[in-house]
Amino acid sequence: MDAEEFRKRGREMVDYIADYMTSIKTRHVIPDVEPGYLRQLLPGEAPLKGEDWTDIMADVERAIMPGIAHWQHPDFHAYFPAGNSYPSILADMLSDAIGCIGFSWAASPACTELEMLMMDWMGKLIGLPEQFLHTSGRGGGCLQGSASDAVLVALLSARHRAMRRLKQEHPAAEDGHHISRLVGYCSKLAHSCVEKAGIIGLVKLRHLDVDDKFALRGSVLEEAIQVCATLGTTGVCSFDNIDELGRVASREGLYLHVDAAYAGNALICPEFSHLIQGIENVNSLAFNPNKWLQVNFDCTLMWVNSSQDLTSALNVDPLYLQHKHEDQAIDFRHWGVPLSRRFRALKLWFVMRTYGIEGLRARIREHCRLAKIFKANVLSDDRFEVVGDVTMGLVCFRLQGVNSQTQKLHKIINESRRLHVVPAMLNEKYVIRFALCTEHAKEADVDFAWKMITCLATQLLSPPLRRDSNKDSDDKMDFRPRIISEDKSTLEMEDDIVFDHQRDELQRMQMMKAMLFKMVSDPKCYNPRILRSLNGQIQNFSVNKQGYRPAMKSSSSLQHQQQQLHQNNNHQQQQQQKIKSEVLDPVKARKSQSEESNSLISSPRNKQKFVF
Ligand SMILES: *Cc1c(COP(=O)(O)O)cnc(C)c1O
Repeated sequence: MDAEEFRKRGREMVDYIADYMTSIKTRHVIPDVEPGYLRQLLPGEAPLKGEDWTDIMADVERAIMPGIAHWQHPDFHAYFPAGNSYPSILADMLSDAIGCIGFSWAASPACTELEMLMMDWMGKLIGLPEQFLHTSGRGGGCLQGSASDAVLVALLSARHRAMRRLKQEHPAAEDGHHISRLVGYCSKLAHSCVEKAGIIGLVKLRHLDVDDKFALRGSVLEEAIQVCATLGTTGVCSFDNIDELGRVASREGLYLHVDAAYAGNALICPEFSHLIQGIENVNSLAFNPNKWLQVNFDCTLMWVNSSQDLTSALNVDPLYLQHKHEDQAIDFRHWGVPLSRRFRALKLWFVMRTYGIEGLRARIREHCRLAKIFKANVLSDDRFEVVGDVTMGLVCFRLQGVNSQTQKLHKIINESRRLHVVPAMLNEKYVIRFALCTEHAKEADVDFAWKMITCLATQLLSPPLRRDSNKDSDDKMDFRPRIISEDKSTLEMEDDIVFDHQRDELQRMQMMKAMLFKMVSDPKCYNPRILRSLNGQIQNFSVNKQGYRPAMKSSSSLQHQQQQLHQNNNHQQQQQQKIKSEVLDPVKARKSQSEESNSLISSPRNKQKFVF
């Protein structure tokens, strides 16, 4: 591709991106594909000759988009937000064009110096004490690839410190002996990346109990050696007590890292600064503007109060990387695991300048306000309860009573493909997390989500469809009036969406939708006869107002679903067959297992796991 074609394709790409963003509502938030789907759409071998750009872009719509979960969709409420904005995208374009690898000051001075400046801007903005700034000459900040990297780097730094002390106290003992004595502590609700860092760093990890606000408190910490505190736990956005933990840490000489991946962004608003009271006793702190400050992944800010702790743990210095300004300049390669570093400060700089502190504060406050509205909705319906405090843009809620009901609700919400949420387990309670995610989240999106959720809950809690053993009764089954009369919220919701659509058409749609949800959530409910009759009714039905599509499937996707169900049955039969043959012939079974693991298509469907 030459510069002329790049100009042309670049403009087209910008148009494509703007169209994608502005019409994202016309897409289902979650894709409807099975593992291995892509291999059926794209060739298994790389092309020998270069291909046309138009063909490549055509395949984006044909093959890639159908398998995308749209994180920027207004009805995406899973995990935490994935920061995104036009200035950030443009800055990344420029960064890619410059294409420098900023591992040392000399490798691209602007790359290092802008990063230092950005870290000081942000550190001052959230009110960090002087020792965390580069201007102090003691500590400072750098960009890491992720909050997980920051936790790992902090742990390596803490380990280095502890090892140095242990070696002084017991010079005769082996390193391995010292390492076996190291223990790190975090709350039960700390992110899984803390456990991973422990595995990599050979530091045993203990998970401590939290209080009734899901916070880690100083009193349970007395035995610890190193600590990772969390501001804004991923499960419920609770806040460990930094003040108490910091005091214990400083008294006992522990290293204290604060993982504030999501909630740390809110520290740019003064009303949240009480959360880092006691920060002077913290050794390092990190948060992700790529979660909540409109910066695209990857961008984790990490500050340390002593850069020497960090660099002495990670310093390796081959001759070819040394340069004459080493004494006066910072080489960020000593501040993290990788050598090569992208020019990431550029996107933070662009975003901070485009929106200004006020613009970014307004966005954070709006998410917090919308979360409170959602919480009020939940509290107004006595079938539901809210778990944990709602401080920022996350609400954890559940159906009153046993966990399995909320579990089912979660399942049918996601299967509707019109909303996306993930669950969490909080003190034995299964909850659904509702996170405000997109840049332009609106009250209407929250209302839509709540109507959708209550509508599905009503369907879930209504008595199950009567299914007599007598086959004929299937045909006579009349569930229409019951579902409609019970389900006022559905009517309201659909009124919003389809406005002036004929009411009886609406009712038919709801009836079929209810049926489909039941079919999807309960395979036992699947009955070819009902399916056939639904097929007939659905054919001439389609609504697409305001970009919303009804949650029901077209007849072709019904057939697809039918096939899927058959396939699932076949798969189950195959599995049973396999178990039998394994008992009879374990050698053959092992062989066929390894064949199976090579095939993506037959791999078990990924369970939704809460890992972000
Ligand atoms: C999101 C999150 C992480 C993981 O962040 P990565 O940047 O993906 O590693 C870690 N800790 C908390 C509290 C989080 O919310």
